[in-house]
Amino acid sequence: MKKISNHNEPDFFIKGILNRDVAILSRAITLVESTNSTHQLLAQQIIEGVIHKTGNSFRLGVTGVPGVGKSSFIESFGKEVVSRNHKLAVLAIDPSSTKSGGSILGDKTRMEELSTKENVYIRPSPSSGDLGGVTKSTYETILLCEAAGYDFIIVETVGVGQSEVAVSKITDFFLLLMLAGAGDELQGIKRGIMEMADALVITKADGDNLNKAKAARTEYAHAMHLFQAHESGWITRTQICSALKNEGIVDVYSMIDEYRKLTLTNNYFSKKRKDQQFHLFLNTIDEQLKNRFYSDQSIQEQIEVIKSKETIQPFAMAKQLLNGFFK
Ligand code: GDP
Repeated sequence: MKKISNHNEPDFFIKGILNRDVAILSRAITLVESTNSTHQLLAQQIIEGVIHKTGNSFRLGVTGVPGVGKSSFIESFGKEVVSRNHKLAVLAIDPSSTKSGGSILGDKTRMEELSTKENVYIRPSPSSGDLGGVTKSTYETILLCEAAGYDFIIVETVGVGQSEVAVSKITDFFLLLMLAGAGDELQGIKRGIMEMADALVITKADGDNLNKAKAARTEYAHAMHLFQAHESGWITRTQICSALKNEGIVDVYSMIDEYRKLTLTNNYFSKKRKDQQFHLFLNTIDEQLKNRFYSDQSIQEQIEVIKSKETIQPFAMAKQLLNGFFK
């Protein structure tokens, strides 16, 4: 008798993902994003089952302040990507949506045309959760998408906080979108973020804004010279583009392709991937240690006792608590 497959078993998901079934991929991503421990366990088993089919993509991080033109850029750029026979997945890191008003998703319909294209998968982000959790689920989502055959992954984030650091830790190339003439401070782009970028692309280089964009490109290119060269041997590029006019988009694609070829040739590509895995491994240990410590009943009680004391010796008491826990 034929065995009826159980829709809650890892095998069902593993087969579905490897068969490039988008509905099953979406359900697996929902499991990855869930905080429920049963879902987490199932998600882990699914990832283990598909891990041999992961890694074969180019992972592009795109960031910039709200209104810089991220979704317009991705719409335009994404069409270029699929025209080159890639399967494209667009994911978002957006832990800020409830706090800062910097939501990626907002109310508007995003990437309307791109989303209807074959070979494109667009996944809205989890809208809550701490950055560590969102980074983990986005990383695991990348793996699931790769196993489902997506070979070009865009991870988008709002440039308003720490999420761009997180995105740079799980992608191969970090693209920072900038407005011309708005000033770095206005855009909330810190120097550190600019230093992390593999390319600055000035958006909306059309109409009255074209000359301003060109001037900004020169200015940024100048500023970038003061930064240290990347370990990859790559020198940060500064380009302009218009998503509206579809100008400069092919150049961005070519530039990224150049980076890919350079880093594959000099082995930086695999080195960076390995460094990232090691970093995620340490981060996971960090988080698990903290979670276990703080969720321990006795630790919670001892913390309450310390809190109510007249005087607190921070270091000695912390050490005592930790020693007690790890004895
Ligand atoms: P996001 O918030 O970063 O995703 O930005 P959007 O893609 O939603 O764009 C914000 C605004 O800028 C919208 O009104 C777009 O129509 C406009 N915009 C985006 N790209 C361009 C462009 O290339 N040229 C011009 N002139 N306007 C653009």
